Amino acid sequence: MEGTPPPTMATASDAHDEKRPVALLIDDSPDVHRLLAMRLRSEGIDVVKAVSGTKGLQVAQKSLPSVVLLDIDMPGMDGFEVLRTLKDTEATQHIPVIMLSGMHNSHDKVTAFDLGAADFITKPFDVTELRVRVRSALRVSQLLHMLSQRAQIDGLSGLYNRAHFDTRWEEQVASCSRHGRPVSLAMFDLDHFKSVNDTYGHPAGDTVIQEFAKLLLRQCRQTDIACRYGGEEFVLVLPETGPADAESLCERVRAALAEITWPKHPERKITCSIGIVGSEGPSATPAASWIEAADRNLYRAKKEGRNRVITTMIEGGVSMAQAG
Ligand code: GH3
Ligand code: MG
Ligand code: MG
Repeated sequence: MEGTPPPTMATASDAHDEKRPVALLIDDSPDVHRLLAMRLRSEGIDVVKAVSGTKGLQVAQKSLPSVVLLDIDMPGMDGFEVLRTLKDTEATQHIPVIMLSGMHNSHDKVTAFDLGAADFITKPFDVTELRVRVRSALRVSQLLHMLSQRAQIDGLSGLYNRAHFDTRWEEQVASCSRHGRPVSLAMFDLDHFKSVNDTYGHPAGDTVIQEFAKLLLRQCRQTDIACRYGGEEFVLVLPETGPADAESLCERVRAALAEITWPKHPERKITCSIGIVGSEGPSATPAASWIEAADRNLYRAKKEGRNRVITTMIEGGVSMAQAG
């Protein structure tokens, strides 16, 4: 989900799935390049090429292909060394690598699989087999990607879950402290939600959670990160957004929620309380302290009557006047 969803499950995985796959072919033989490029393109797979291991690594890092076809026997850096580097590098370690070799040597095959190769094809190629093996490597990699996405998504609301929030929030705080980018954090808690469950039943409460999630997503930008923090609590991470803009957005969410008439309980409106902290510029405040500060504001919003937003600048943060 870069270009983070505020992700419904669909947007989270579709960005990956809808791309036309790209195969990076690393081989020192121009004949192999010609043959494979033609075959793969007719399969709907785009091909980028490199004629040496060193060049192949550079292209892999830059273009992050969907699959790598890697010759073992190359002058200079050989295929095993390239494979080892690809698997040792965070950005490329999940890309499936299919090894190509002129040898039917089982020792090479074992080494390749030990180093993390997805498959092994011997030259000369059987074109049908090659096609099937590339397709299969792509399918497995897409499934793994989808599973890892789903592990980050809350099943009831379709929003990102707490684990995803923890990771992304650390990143945002690091970016704020390093580059001085504005960022805000908003925490939401549905008001008197226990009594909604007690009065109308748990399924009615679930519907409120689901509809509130949709409302949050409607108000967010693509780059905002909407998460279910737990129970009836939600967080919005708002990159490139100072506290004043965060407050306008959250105020819209608050007002829109309070307006909804609920089919299962038309006589009962639902409201939420919101605590926001933000900064217009660099702040060295640790990630956990932002969360505590947002939570304190949320607590104040509850105490001061609920259905309201309380916003403060993060301690040590930069205000509009200072930042401008
Ligand atoms: P306050 O205004 O102070 O926040 O009061 P509250 O009743 O919302 O807060 P409290 O923490 O007492 O209750 C939270 C309720 O949220 C209790 C719990 O049953 C309910 N809840 C948490 N997760 C879910 C869920 O997944 N589905 C439903 N239906 N209810 C949930
Ligand atoms: Mg709560
Ligand atoms: Mg509550």
